[in-house]
Amino acid sequence: MKTQRIGLFTIDRVIETEGAFAPLDFVLPTVDMDRVRAESAWLRPTFLDASDQLVMSFHSYILRTPEHNILIDTCVGDDKDRPLRPSWHQQKSGYLAALARAGLRPEQIDFVCCTHLHADHVGWNTQRRDGRWVPTFAHAHYLFSELEYGHWEREHRLALEQGKPVPNHGSFADSVLPIVDAGQAVFIRGNHELQAGVHLEAAPGHTPGNCVLHARSQGAHAVFSGDILHTPVQLIDLSWSSRFCHDAQQAEATRRKLIGELTDQPSVLMAAHFPTPVAGRIVSAGHGLRWQASDSN
Ligand SMILES: [Zn+2]
Repeated sequence: MKTQRIGLFTIDRVIETEGAFAPLDFVLPTVDMDRVRAESAWLRPTFLDASDQLVMSFHSYILRTPEHNILIDTCVGDDKDRPLRPSWHQQKSGYLAALARAGLRPEQIDFVCCTHLHADHVGWNTQRRDGRWVPTFAHAHYLFSELEYGHWEREHRLALEQGKPVPNHGSFADSVLPIVDAGQAVFIRGNHELQAGVHLEAAPGHTPGNCVLHARSQGAHAVFSGDILHTPVQLIDLSWSSRFCHDAQQAEATRRKLIGELTDQPSVLMAAHFPTPVAGRIVSAGHGLRWQASDSN
């Protein structure tokens, strides 16, 4: 993805990993493969490979405004114990080198914004130093939804009390709590203006406190949609929620609302897991919807 310009703001992408992730019908349990096959012309090979594996990317976005460097979602992270997902376990990704290629050192990040607290959105919040997890972005405020934090804090504590596996591969302990302990967490409620033209909007369903981030400058608009859509395949039927959605019905309602607002608008959609090319728009085509790569990709 080339640098996207949104008025006075710019957006760059920092890739952690990209490629075939899992079978489509694993990620979207209610998917109708016949309907997907009928749409193959625009889906393959970019979003779906020949063996029906979903192609996904794990990346962060850097939103640069005249005032701030804002990092949105922080992927899986390096060196984390994730034995239940071997490709994430003790990963060595080259993420910080990718950040450097985008022209930033970790200490230059002013805000870190996690759309939600799943393990693949919080990983680079921390890095291991001398056997401890410490904030990767030493000068950043990390924005967490209070509702989201409270939900996972409770789930994590209950699992420990009951001797059950902790949720999210243990990422609450190694990638969220150290930020709170370091005094760098800022808890937000509902909608929140980060600065002029940048605001977070509550978008529940995928997780209880899930949110999306809007960037507006000089009449241009981009939305960082996190996991509202995991793949453009979901545009075939907006009821197809992912197996990772906490509340599939609420996730669908949130998805329908956001897609309704964006369809046939110049707004740029920046999703958390769409593969290259990443930036795009939602357009209507016949009776359905399509994703269309932005001209400046
Ligand atoms: Zn995700």
